[in-house]
Amino acid sequence: MPVIRTVGLTHVYNQGSPFEKAAVNDINIEIEKGDFIGVIGHTGSGKSTLIQHFNGLLKPTSGKIFIDEEDLWADKARLRQCRFKVGLVFQYPEYQLFEETVAKDIAFGPRNMGLSEEEIKQRVAEAAEFVGLKEKHLERSPFDLSGGQKRRAAIAGVIAMRPEVLILDEPTAGLDPKGREKILTQIRNYHKVTGNTVLLVSHSMEDIARYADKVLVLADAQIKFFDTVDNVFSHAQELTGLGLEVPQITKVFLGLAERGYPVRRNIYTVEDGK
Ligand code: ADP
Repeated sequence: MPVIRTVGLTHVYNQGSPFEKAAVNDINIEIEKGDFIGVIGHTGSGKSTLIQHFNGLLKPTSGKIFIDEEDLWADKARLRQCRFKVGLVFQYPEYQLFEETVAKDIAFGPRNMGLSEEEIKQRVAEAAEFVGLKEKHLERSPFDLSGGQKRRAAIAGVIAMRPEVLILDEPTAGLDPKGREKILTQIRNYHKVTGNTVLLVSHSMEDIARYADKVLVLADAQIKFFDTVDNVFSHAQELTGLGLEVPQITKVFLGLAERGYPVRRNIYTVEDGK
């Protein structure tokens, strides 16, 4: 059973005005539980618009979205439930930190869910651990953390809601290479440990090649490809035409695999200490 399914999902901004624009157009997709999907496409291809539909932040102009095969827009109760099931981490999420302490900030989502204090405490500790924040960070003001730590605290706030689907929009934007690596490794661990579905919107084809199992390529408001990383990246020429350059190293590995060498795509990935 797909965790997310869309039927004819279309979103038109400024409908009926001269600025009318279909940002996603007739999207039919099934996302299976447990997949790690990289979402890629040129600026303006519709990535943000699409992912905002997955947790009901935007309402489709037409078409439907099903979460666990239930119509997201069926009624208010369903919408609320789906919003807890699908956690969305925006770009630069640290700008939304606002509580006195990191712990309170991470607890904000679980508290909204009406959980007990005991449960909230447990979830804050668990989420902090996933993103590599230590206990000493939890009682600090979020504004006293480093840039990378702030970002991780904001991600923890979504993880603490234990979403079935975690969607992150460019979670490494603006971080240095070390900070990027740390966050991506933590997201991969989160995926491995929980078995939950992860959607990672990224500009980096290299990051997608290293971390995702499947790739969703959007172009001009539509799905261009949705398949395993190897299958999608073997269309290097078409991707280049969309302004998406397949990393050289990936091309080499795909070439070797095509010639029958037993290569593993992620063989050049630094494994997380295992
Ligand atoms: P991406 O995330 O791939 O950059 P977006 O979903 O942000 O793409 O945008 C898709 C298209 O919709 C673009 O042409 C963009 O200009 C337009 N768009 C996005 N948000 C709005 C909005 N709030 N109002 C009007 N047009 C928008």
